[in-house]
Amino acid sequence: MFLTHLSCTICGLRHEWEQLQNLCTNCQKPLFPVYDLAAVGRALKREDLAVREKSLWKYREVLPLPPKVEPVSLGEGGTPLLRAKKFGDVSGLTNLWVKDEAQNPTQSFKARGMTTAVSMAKHLGATKLAVPSAGNAGGALAAYAARAGLEAHIFMPSDTPRANIIECRELGAHVVLIDGLITDCGAEIAKRKAAEGWFDMSTLKEPYRVEGKKTLGYELAEQMDWTLPDVILYPTGGGTGLIGMWKAFEEMEALGWIGSARPRMFTVQASGCAPIVRAFEAGEKFATEFPDAHTLASGLRVPKAVGDFLMLDILRNSGGGAVTVEDEAMIAMTREVGAAEGLFVAPEGAACFVALRDLVSAGKIGAEDRVVIFNTGSGIKYLDCYEAS
Ligand SMILES: *Cc1c(COP(=O)(O)O)cnc(C)c1O
Ligand SMILES: [Zn+2]
Repeated sequence: MFLTHLSCTICGLRHEWEQLQNLCTNCQKPLFPVYDLAAVGRALKREDLAVREKSLWKYREVLPLPPKVEPVSLGEGGTPLLRAKKFGDVSGLTNLWVKDEAQNPTQSFKARGMTTAVSMAKHLGATKLAVPSAGNAGGALAAYAARAGLEAHIFMPSDTPRANIIECRELGAHVVLIDGLITDCGAEIAKRKAAEGWFDMSTLKEPYRVEGKKTLGYELAEQMDWTLPDVILYPTGGGTGLIGMWKAFEEMEALGWIGSARPRMFTVQASGCAPIVRAFEAGEKFATEFPDAHTLASGLRVPKAVGDFLMLDILRNSGGGAVTVEDEAMIAMTREVGAAEGLFVAPEGAACFVALRDLVSAGKIGAEDRVVIFNTGSGIKYLDCYEAS
C-alpha cells in the first residue's frame, strides 16, 4: 500500500493511519491521507488504468486500504461523462458536459466517500458507525455499513426528504430524527459517541470519505484524455467533492499524469444556506455559521463546514467563484434539464444549471469554455419537492 500517514490540513501534524482517527488531535481540523507518490509513479502508469474494471477502486494505488483487504463495495464510480448538447445550445455553450453521479449505488455520489470510509473503518476495527445527514449521506452509510456487517446510527433533521429516511430504515440502520439542522445532528453524535462506542463518519471529520470523493477528479481526467475542463460547477454542502477533486489534481500533477493547468472551480449554494458564498465575497479565510439555514436541496443545507478554509482557498487559487441559486429556480430547472437531456437531476444538480446560465450572462463563462457540471444525485429521492410544482 502506498498510504504512508495522515497529515493535518492546517498545522501539518502527522497522525498514524493504522488507528481510527477523526480530526487533528492538536487543532481539530481535517486530516488528509498522504501517499508515497514517487512509488505510485513507479508501480502504475496512467495507461494501465484503461484496461481495469469500471469502478473507483481501479485507482487503488492512490486509495487507502492494504492491497489484500477486500473493499466494502456496491459497484460505485465509473459514472458517465455525458455531453449536454441541447442545454448547451440554448445556453450559448458549445462544450457542456454532465458527470452523472445519480448512477452510483444509493443514487448519489455519497457512495464514493462511503465505500472508502466504511472499508477503512471496518479494517481498523470500528463496529458502530454514526453520521449526521440531511439527505444522501445517511442512505449511503446505511448501505455500506450493512454490506460490511457493521451497525449504522443515522441522525437526520426531521424535515429530511422522506425517501432518505425510509431508505436508511429499510437498509437496517438505526435512524434518529432531530428537530433541528445537520449541525444539531452532528452535535448529538459528538455528545454521545464516547459512551455509545460510535465512530463518527461525518464528512471531513474522518480522513477517508474525501479519498473516495477525490476519484471524481481522477475519473474526469481519465475521461477527458488526461486534460481537465476549463470550468467546474459543484453544488456545495460540506465540500468534500470539491476538496477531494483538488487533491486529486495535485496528486495527478505530482505523478506526471496532468500538467499544472486547473479548472476554474465554482461553488454553487442555495440562497437560503450560503456560508461559503458569503465568506468568499467577504474575502474571509473561514466561513461563519449561516443563520436560519433553509433550502429544499437537502445536500446543500450545511450551515457550517469544517473544510470551509480548504474550499475558499481552492475557489480563489483556481480563479473560480461562488454563486447562490433560489430554490424555485432549481425546481423549475429540473424539468428543463430533464426534458432536454433525459436526466432527472437532484435539486442540487439543477442548481448548477441555473448557476451556469447566470455565470454565462455575467461573462464569467465563455461560449467555448469546456464546462463540467456535477449532477450529484437523482431527483427520484426528492419526490416531495417536485410533487407540488
Ligand atoms: C451531499 C450532497 C451534496 C453536497 O456535497 P458535499 O461534498 O458535501 O459538498 C450535493 N448534492 C447532493 C445530491 C448531495 O447528496
Ligand atoms: Zn492540526
